[in-house]
Amino acid sequence: ASIPAKKKAKTNGMVVNKWTGKVYSRRYHEILEKRRSLPVWFQKDEFLQTLRNNQTVILVGETGSGKTTQIPQFVLEAVHVEAEKNPRKWLVGCTQPRRVAAMSVASRVAEEMDVSIGEEVGYTVRFEDCTSSRTVLKYLTDGMLLREAMTDPLLQRYKVIVLDEAHERTLATDLLFGLLKRVLRNRPDLKLVIMSATLEAKKFLEYFSGAPLMKVPGRLHPVEILYTQEPERDYLEAAIRTVVQIHMFEPPGDVLVFLTGEEEIEDACRKIVNKLGDQVNVVPLYSTLPPVMQQKIFDPSPENRRKVVVSTNISETSLTIDGIVYVVDSGFAKQKIYNPSNRVESLLVSPISQASAHQRAGRAGRTQPGKCFRLYTEKSFNHDLQSQTYPEILRSNLANTVLTLTKLGIDNLVCFDFMDPPAPQTLARALNDLVYLGALDDKGNLTKEGEMMSEFPLDPQMAKMLIVSPEFNCSNEILSVSAMLSVPNCFIRPKGEAQKEADEAKARFGHIDGDHLTLLNVYHAYKQNNEDMKWCYENFINHRAMKSADNVRKQLMKIMSKFNLKICSSDFNNPNYYVNIRKALLTGYFMQVAHLDRTGRYLTAKDDQVVHLHPSCCMDHKPEWVIYNEYALTSRNFIRTVTYIRGEWLLDVAPHYYHLPNFPNSETKRILEKLYNKRERKNLK
Ligand code: ADP
Ligand code: MG
Repeated sequence: ASIPAKKKAKTNGMVVNKWTGKVYSRRYHEILEKRRSLPVWFQKDEFLQTLRNNQTVILVGETGSGKTTQIPQFVLEAVHVEAEKNPRKWLVGCTQPRRVAAMSVASRVAEEMDVSIGEEVGYTVRFEDCTSSRTVLKYLTDGMLLREAMTDPLLQRYKVIVLDEAHERTLATDLLFGLLKRVLRNRPDLKLVIMSATLEAKKFLEYFSGAPLMKVPGRLHPVEILYTQEPERDYLEAAIRTVVQIHMFEPPGDVLVFLTGEEEIEDACRKIVNKLGDQVNVVPLYSTLPPVMQQKIFDPSPENRRKVVVSTNISETSLTIDGIVYVVDSGFAKQKIYNPSNRVESLLVSPISQASAHQRAGRAGRTQPGKCFRLYTEKSFNHDLQSQTYPEILRSNLANTVLTLTKLGIDNLVCFDFMDPPAPQTLARALNDLVYLGALDDKGNLTKEGEMMSEFPLDPQMAKMLIVSPEFNCSNEILSVSAMLSVPNCFIRPKGEAQKEADEAKARFGHIDGDHLTLLNVYHAYKQNNEDMKWCYENFINHRAMKSADNVRKQLMKIMSKFNLKICSSDFNNPNYYVNIRKALLTGYFMQVAHLDRTGRYLTAKDDQVVHLHPSCCMDHKPEWVIYNEYALTSRNFIRTVTYIRGEWLLDVAPHYYHLPNFPNSETKRILEKLYNKRERKNLK
C-alpha cells in the first residue's frame, strides 16, 4: 500500500521515509542534522565495511559518540538492502543492561527514524513488550535476549545482534558472550557487534579472538579534576554544598551529580531546591522514575537557568545528557555484592572503581572544557578505589544463571566459555539450591518442574512458589503477592509532616502475620476500589506501582495457564485461607528462614547470621519463625518483607533442606530436633 505514496511523493521531489511511505517530518531533518555531527557518522562506511568482512566486530567509543542510537540504524540500513533482495524478515537487536536505557533509547531512535515507537522500532524489557510484527529494530535488555534464547536457541529471528555497554559486564551480558560465541559457530550468517565505552580491550580481543577492534575517537574536551582536601563525612551533604558553590561561583553550564538511589536523590533534589529555589532547574534520574519524568533530563533548560541532574550511575555511560559542564562525583554507587558462603546477595552502597570515576568525569567534557568535583581525596582515589569494577558474575547468586544455562542445554558448566569463570563454590551452591528446589535432579538434569521454573522471568524461589500454589489452593493470592514483590515499593513515605499520616495509612493495610499478606491486602483494596488513582493518593499508595503489579500479574497468569496450573482460591472465610498462602510462600522460600533465639535475636536458618527485622516490617510481635524476601545489608543486617510461619511446616514443606544430619550445630538445630521428636511421638500414638 505504501508504493503509490512513494511514487507520488517522488514526483513531487520530496524524500520519502521508506518505513512508512510518508514524507519525512521537519523534526526528522532537524535531528538528522545533529546526528550527522556525531563521531560515529564519520566512520559509518568503515564500520559497515568491517562488518561485511567479519562475523564479529568490537567497537569502542566514548559515551555520547552515537554508538547506541546510530550503529543499530547503520546496521539496519545495510541489512535492509539485503532483505529487499531476499524478502525474509530480519531483525536487528540491540541489548542494554538497563531497562530504562532500552526504553529511552528506543523512543529516541523511533523519533530519529520518524516512526512510531512499537512499530518499526520497539523495545522489550521484563514484563513489557513494545514491539509488533513490523518491528525491524529492537532494543531489549540483555536479560530478555537470554530469555529469547531459551525458546529460540539459535536466535533465528536475528540477522545482527548488537551487545551494547559490554564494559558493564552485567551477568546477562557475560552469559550472552559465551552463548553467542556458540551460536555464531552454528549460524555463519549471523553477525555480532560488541560495543562499549571503555574496555579492557586486550581481554575482549583475546576472548573474541580474530574480531577486529574499531575505535571511535571521542570529542572529549579537557576536564579538570578537583578532589577534596579532607575525606568527607557525609557525601550527600557535601554534594549539595558543592552544587550550591558551583551555582554561585562557576560560569554557566549544567551540573550532573552522581548519587546512589531514589530516596537519597529525591532528598538531595529537595534540599537543592530549598537552597537555590528556581534559580536552578533540578531533575532527578533513577530507574523507578516514571518515563515522562525521565524524558525531562533531555529537555534543554530555559535561558539563564542552570540544569542540575541528580542521578544514579545510569548516566555514567547508559544515557547521555547534553550540556553538562560540571560533574559532582560522590564516589559511591549501589552495587550488588554476594557472599557465597551464606548465599546472601544484597545491594550495598559501596565505593566505585577508578574506571567508573573516569567515566563520570568524562561526562563533564562533552561540549566544552569542564570540571569534575570528586567528593573524596586524591589519596583515596589512588589507594582505596579498585581499578575496575568486578564483573557482576563474580558478585551474584547464580541459581538463576545455572537454571537458565541448563535450560539452554549447557549441562557442563565447567566447560562453558565464561570470560571470567565464577568461583566453583558459587556454582556448586547454585546447583545445590536448584536441587533443593526440585528444579534439577541429583544428576543435575532439569526436572519437569525445573523446566517450568525456567519459563518464569523470576528468581527460582518465586517461580517454585507459583508452581506449587494450586496445591495450596491459593494461586490467585500467590500471583498477587508475586506481582507486588516484582514492582517498586508501593508505599509512599514522604519526608516531613505527612510521614505520620502515611505510616498510619500503611498500618491500615497491615496484616498481623506479616508483610507478604500486607501486600496482598493492598492489592485487594486497590482492586476493590476500582484501581482508582484518587484512592491511591489518599492512601499513600503508588498508583504506578499498582498498575505495573497488575500488568505483571496478568503476564505471570499467562505463563501459569500455559502449564495448565490451576488459578484458584480458598474461600475467604475458610480458617486456613491465610495458612495456605503462608505455606505456599514457604514452599518457595524455605531457604530464607530465620529463627528467633533465646536472647531475642533472629538467626538465619543453617547459616546462623544475626539479622534484624527491617523497620518497615508491619508485624508488632516477633514470631519464632519467619520467612523473608530480602536480606538488606545497610548499617545492620536487615531482613525485609517478612512473614510469620510455623516451625512444623518446615518439616512438611522442605524435609530435604531441614534434614538434620547435614544441619550445622546450632540452637536452630536443637529446636528442629524437638519438632521432629514431637512429630514422631505423635505418629506413634
Ligand atoms: P553513546 O551510545 O555512544 O553513548 P548515544 O547514541 O546514546 O551515544 O547518544 C548520542 C547522542 O544522541 C547524544 O549525545 C545526545 O545528543 C543524543 N540523544 C540520545 N538520546 C537522546 C534523547 N532521549 N533525547 C535527546 N537526545 C538524545
Ligand atoms: Mg550508549
